[in-house]
Amino acid sequence: MADILEHLQEIRKRIERACSASGRAPEEVRLLLATKTVPPARIKIALQEGQRLIAENRVQEIREKHAALKAVPHESHFIGHLQSNKIKELLKYDISCIQSVDRLELAEKLHQRLLLEQRTMEVLIQVNTSNEDSKFGIGPDAALELVKAVAGLGSIKIKGLMTIGLFSADTGKVRGCFRLLKEIRDQIAAAAIPGVEMKALSMGMSGDLETAIEEGATIVRVGTAIFGKRRYPDSYYWNEQTPDA
Ligand SMILES: *Cc1c(COP(=O)(O)O)cnc(C)c1O
Repeated sequence: MADILEHLQEIRKRIERACSASGRAPEEVRLLLATKTVPPARIKIALQEGQRLIAENRVQEIREKHAALKAVPHESHFIGHLQSNKIKELLKYDISCIQSVDRLELAEKLHQRLLLEQRTMEVLIQVNTSNEDSKFGIGPDAALELVKAVAGLGSIKIKGLMTIGLFSADTGKVRGCFRLLKEIRDQIAAAAIPGVEMKALSMGMSGDLETAIEEGATIVRVGTAIFGKRRYPDSYYWNEQTPDA
Protein backbone atom coordinates (compact mmCIF):
# COMPACT_ATOMS: atom_id res chain seq x y z
CA MET A 1 0.00 0.00 0.00
CA ALA A 2 2.78 2.41 0.95
CA ASP A 3 4.37 1.79 -2.42
CA ILE A 4 1.32 2.99 -4.34
CA LEU A 5 0.94 6.14 -2.24
CA GLU A 6 4.61 6.97 -2.62
CA HIS A 7 4.52 6.31 -6.34
CA LEU A 8 1.48 8.55 -6.78
CA GLN A 9 3.28 11.34 -5.00
CA GLU A 10 6.31 10.84 -7.21
CA ILE A 11 4.17 10.88 -10.39
CA ARG A 12 2.46 14.06 -9.30
CA LYS A 13 5.85 15.65 -8.79
CA ARG A 14 6.97 14.53 -12.23
CA ILE A 15 3.83 16.01 -13.78
CA GLU A 16 4.28 19.28 -11.90
CA ARG A 17 7.92 19.55 -12.88
CA ALA A 18 7.18 18.84 -16.54
CA CYS A 19 4.38 21.40 -16.49
CA SER A 20 6.50 24.12 -14.98
CA ALA A 21 9.34 23.31 -17.39
CA SER A 22 6.98 23.92 -20.29
CA GLY A 23 5.04 26.81 -18.82
CA ARG A 24 1.83 24.85 -18.38
CA ALA A 25 -0.52 24.66 -15.40
CA PRO A 26 -0.61 21.23 -13.71
CA GLU A 27 -4.43 21.33 -13.89
CA GLU A 28 -4.15 21.06 -17.67
CA VAL A 29 -2.86 17.51 -17.36
CA ARG A 30 -5.08 14.71 -16.13
CA LEU A 31 -3.54 11.59 -14.63
CA LEU A 32 -5.14 8.37 -15.84
CA LEU A 33 -4.24 5.14 -14.07
CA ALA A 34 -3.70 2.26 -16.49
CA THR A 35 -4.89 -0.65 -14.36
CA LYS A 36 -4.43 -3.71 -16.58
CA THR A 37 -3.46 -6.76 -14.48
CA VAL A 38 -3.81 -4.73 -11.24
CA PRO A 39 -6.14 -6.34 -8.70
CA PRO A 40 -9.08 -4.22 -7.42
CA ALA A 41 -7.64 -4.00 -3.90
CA ARG A 42 -4.61 -2.14 -5.25
CA ILE A 43 -6.68 0.05 -7.56
CA LYS A 44 -8.84 1.00 -4.58
CA ILE A 45 -5.79 2.28 -2.69
CA ALA A 46 -5.18 4.78 -5.46
CA LEU A 47 -8.85 5.76 -5.71
CA GLN A 48 -9.11 6.28 -1.98
CA GLU A 49 -6.04 8.47 -2.14
CA GLY A 50 -8.03 10.79 -4.39
CA GLN A 51 -7.39 9.48 -7.89
CA ARG A 52 -10.47 9.51 -10.10
CA LEU A 53 -9.64 8.27 -13.57
CA ILE A 54 -8.77 4.66 -14.40
CA ALA A 55 -8.69 2.66 -17.63
CA GLU A 56 -8.55 -0.96 -18.70
CA ASN A 57 -7.42 -2.58 -21.94
CA ARG A 58 -9.66 -5.61 -21.97
CA VAL A 59 -13.40 -5.95 -21.56
CA GLN A 60 -12.90 -9.13 -19.59
CA GLU A 61 -10.83 -7.33 -16.95
CA ILE A 62 -13.48 -4.62 -16.61
CA ARG A 63 -16.07 -7.31 -16.02
CA GLU A 64 -13.93 -9.07 -13.44
CA LYS A 65 -13.16 -5.93 -11.43
CA HIS A 66 -16.48 -4.17 -11.81
CA ALA A 67 -18.23 -5.38 -8.65
CA ALA A 68 -15.21 -4.77 -6.44
CA LEU A 69 -14.77 -1.17 -7.62
CA LYS A 70 -18.41 -0.14 -7.93
CA ALA A 71 -18.69 1.41 -4.48
CA VAL A 72 -15.64 3.65 -4.88
CA PRO A 73 -16.34 6.81 -6.89
CA HIS A 74 -14.29 6.93 -10.10
CA GLU A 75 -14.43 7.46 -13.83
CA SER A 76 -13.45 4.78 -16.36
CA HIS A 77 -12.04 5.04 -19.85
CA PHE A 78 -11.21 2.21 -22.22
CA ILE A 79 -7.72 2.23 -23.75
CA GLY A 80 -7.32 -1.22 -25.32
CA HIS A 81 -7.82 -2.68 -28.74
CA LEU A 82 -11.58 -3.08 -29.08
CA GLN A 83 -13.06 -5.85 -31.14
CA SER A 84 -16.47 -5.14 -32.64
CA ASN A 85 -17.97 -8.21 -31.03
CA LYS A 86 -17.11 -6.83 -27.58
CA ILE A 87 -18.89 -3.47 -27.97
CA LYS A 88 -22.17 -4.65 -26.48
CA GLU A 89 -20.42 -6.09 -23.43
CA LEU A 90 -18.26 -2.98 -22.95
CA LEU A 91 -21.33 -0.75 -22.95
CA LYS A 92 -22.73 -2.62 -19.95
CA TYR A 93 -20.13 -0.94 -17.80
CA ASP A 94 -19.97 2.70 -16.98
CA ILE A 95 -17.28 3.80 -19.43
CA SER A 96 -17.21 7.54 -20.14
CA CYS A 97 -14.70 7.51 -23.00
CA ILE A 98 -13.30 4.97 -25.45
CA GLN A 99 -9.81 6.28 -26.26
CA SER A 100 -8.97 3.62 -28.82
CA VAL A 101 -11.31 4.11 -31.78
CA ASP A 102 -9.06 3.48 -34.77
CA ARG A 103 -11.22 2.30 -37.65
CA LEU A 104 -14.49 3.24 -39.28
CA GLU A 105 -15.93 -0.25 -39.11
CA LEU A 106 -15.58 -0.21 -35.31
CA ALA A 107 -17.07 3.28 -35.05
CA GLU A 108 -20.05 2.30 -37.21
CA LYS A 109 -20.80 -0.74 -35.07
CA LEU A 110 -20.41 1.32 -31.91
CA HIS A 111 -22.79 3.92 -33.34
CA GLN A 112 -25.40 1.28 -34.19
CA ARG A 113 -25.29 -0.13 -30.69
CA LEU A 114 -25.44 3.33 -29.09
CA LEU A 115 -28.47 4.19 -31.23
CA LEU A 116 -30.18 1.05 -30.05
CA GLU A 117 -29.47 1.96 -26.43
CA GLN A 118 -30.38 5.62 -27.08
CA ARG A 119 -27.19 7.00 -25.66
CA THR A 120 -23.95 8.65 -26.75
CA MET A 121 -20.26 7.96 -26.11
CA GLU A 122 -17.19 10.15 -25.99
CA VAL A 123 -14.21 8.81 -27.91
CA LEU A 124 -10.65 9.65 -28.82
CA ILE A 125 -9.21 8.58 -32.14
CA GLN A 126 -6.11 6.44 -31.68
CA VAL A 127 -3.30 7.29 -34.07
CA ASN A 128 -0.30 5.04 -34.72
CA THR A 129 2.33 7.77 -34.61
CA SER A 130 5.26 5.35 -34.37
CA ASN A 131 4.25 3.39 -37.46
CA GLU A 132 5.09 0.12 -35.72
CA ASP A 133 3.06 -2.83 -36.92
CA SER A 134 2.67 -3.98 -33.34
CA LYS A 135 0.62 -0.97 -32.38
CA PHE A 136 -2.97 -0.26 -33.20
CA GLY A 137 -4.20 3.08 -34.43
CA ILE A 138 -5.06 4.78 -37.67
CA GLY A 139 -2.12 5.88 -39.79
CA PRO A 140 -1.22 9.57 -39.37
CA ASP A 141 -2.12 10.35 -42.98
CA ALA A 142 -5.57 8.81 -42.66
CA ALA A 143 -6.55 10.37 -39.32
CA LEU A 144 -8.34 13.42 -40.73
CA GLU A 145 -10.47 11.30 -43.07
CA LEU A 146 -11.39 8.93 -40.24
CA VAL A 147 -12.41 11.83 -38.00
CA LYS A 148 -14.59 13.26 -40.78
CA ALA A 149 -16.30 9.92 -41.28
CA VAL A 150 -16.81 9.23 -37.56
CA ALA A 151 -18.11 12.78 -37.06
CA GLY A 152 -21.07 11.81 -39.22
CA LEU A 153 -22.11 9.17 -36.67
CA GLY A 154 -24.30 11.23 -34.36
CA SER A 155 -24.03 9.13 -31.22
CA ILE A 156 -20.23 9.35 -31.11
CA LYS A 157 -18.64 12.49 -29.68
CA ILE A 158 -15.00 12.93 -30.72
CA LYS A 159 -13.02 14.73 -28.02
CA GLY A 160 -9.45 14.42 -29.28
CA LEU A 161 -6.65 11.99 -30.07
CA MET A 162 -4.68 9.24 -28.36
CA THR A 163 -1.35 7.65 -29.16
CA ILE A 164 1.18 5.23 -27.74
CA GLY A 165 4.64 6.65 -28.40
CA LEU A 166 7.57 4.70 -29.71
CA PHE A 167 9.29 2.57 -27.07
CA SER A 168 12.79 3.89 -27.38
CA ALA A 169 15.53 5.31 -25.24
CA ASP A 170 15.91 7.94 -27.93
CA THR A 171 13.87 10.81 -26.49
CA GLY A 172 14.05 12.65 -29.78
CA LYS A 173 12.21 9.86 -31.58
CA VAL A 174 9.63 9.56 -28.81
CA ARG A 175 9.11 13.31 -28.90
CA GLY A 176 8.57 13.07 -32.66
CA CYS A 177 5.57 10.79 -32.08
CA PHE A 178 3.98 13.19 -29.61
CA ARG A 179 4.71 16.22 -31.77
CA LEU A 180 3.13 14.43 -34.73
CA LEU A 181 -0.03 13.76 -32.72
CA LYS A 182 -0.27 17.43 -31.82
CA GLU A 183 0.25 18.43 -35.46
CA ILE A 184 -2.53 16.08 -36.52
CA ARG A 185 -4.72 17.54 -33.78
CA ASP A 186 -4.06 21.07 -35.03
CA GLN A 187 -4.73 20.03 -38.60
CA ILE A 188 -8.05 18.43 -37.64
CA ALA A 189 -8.99 21.38 -35.43
CA ALA A 190 -8.31 23.72 -38.36
CA ALA A 191 -10.76 21.72 -40.48
CA ALA A 192 -13.49 22.79 -38.01
CA ILE A 193 -15.58 19.67 -38.47
CA PRO A 194 -19.04 20.14 -36.94
CA GLY A 195 -19.42 18.26 -33.64
CA VAL A 196 -15.73 17.44 -33.36
CA GLU A 197 -13.69 18.68 -30.39
CA MET A 198 -9.91 18.41 -30.49
CA LYS A 199 -9.00 19.40 -26.95
CA ALA A 200 -7.81 16.07 -25.58
CA LEU A 201 -4.35 14.71 -26.33
CA SER A 202 -3.88 11.42 -24.52
CA MET A 203 -0.18 10.59 -24.69
CA GLY A 204 2.68 9.74 -22.37
CA MET A 205 3.13 6.75 -20.06
CA SER A 206 5.42 5.82 -17.15
CA GLY A 207 8.60 6.22 -19.16
CA ASP A 208 7.85 9.25 -21.29
CA LEU A 209 5.24 11.40 -19.60
CA GLU A 210 7.55 14.43 -19.28
CA THR A 211 8.16 14.49 -23.01
CA ALA A 212 4.44 14.11 -23.69
CA ILE A 213 3.55 16.97 -21.35
CA GLU A 214 6.14 19.18 -23.00
CA GLU A 215 4.47 18.41 -26.32
CA GLY A 216 0.98 19.22 -25.06
CA ALA A 217 -0.52 16.09 -23.46
CA THR A 218 -3.77 16.69 -21.59
CA ILE A 219 -4.05 13.10 -20.34
CA VAL A 220 -1.08 10.95 -19.31
CA ARG A 221 -1.71 7.22 -18.82
CA VAL A 222 0.44 5.69 -16.11
CA GLY A 223 0.55 2.07 -14.97
CA THR A 224 3.94 0.61 -14.07
CA ALA A 225 5.29 3.68 -12.27
CA ILE A 226 2.35 3.48 -9.86
CA PHE A 227 1.45 -0.19 -9.54
CA GLY A 228 4.77 -1.83 -10.37
CA LYS A 229 5.84 -4.17 -13.13
CA ARG A 230 3.25 -6.31 -14.87
CA ARG A 231 3.37 -10.07 -15.17
CA TYR A 232 2.53 -10.06 -18.88
CA PRO A 233 4.54 -8.29 -21.53
CA ASP A 234 2.62 -5.46 -23.18
CA SER A 235 2.65 -7.30 -26.49
CA TYR A 236 -0.07 -9.38 -24.86
CA TYR A 237 -2.29 -6.31 -25.03
CA TRP A 238 -1.08 -4.58 -28.14
CA ASN A 239 -0.53 -7.29 -30.71
CA GLU A 240 -2.93 -8.39 -33.41
CA GLN A 241 -2.32 -11.89 -32.14
CA THR A 242 -3.86 -11.26 -28.74
CA PRO A 243 -6.58 -13.60 -27.63
CA ASP A 244 -10.06 -12.14 -27.56
CA ALA A 245 -10.31 -9.08 -25.36
C1 LIG B 1 -0.42 -0.16 -20.16
C2 LIG B 1 -0.77 1.06 -20.88
C3 LIG B 1 -0.32 2.32 -20.44
C4 LIG B 1 0.57 2.50 -19.23
O1 LIG B 1 1.84 2.02 -19.48
P1 LIG B 1 2.98 2.06 -18.36
O2 LIG B 1 4.23 1.98 -19.13
O3 LIG B 1 2.74 0.88 -17.49
O4 LIG B 1 2.83 3.33 -17.62
C5 LIG B 1 -0.70 3.43 -21.18
N1 LIG B 1 -1.47 3.32 -22.29
C6 LIG B 1 -1.92 2.15 -22.74
C7 LIG B 1 -2.75 2.10 -23.96
C8 LIG B 1 -1.57 0.98 -22.05
O5 LIG B 1 -2.00 -0.19 -22.53
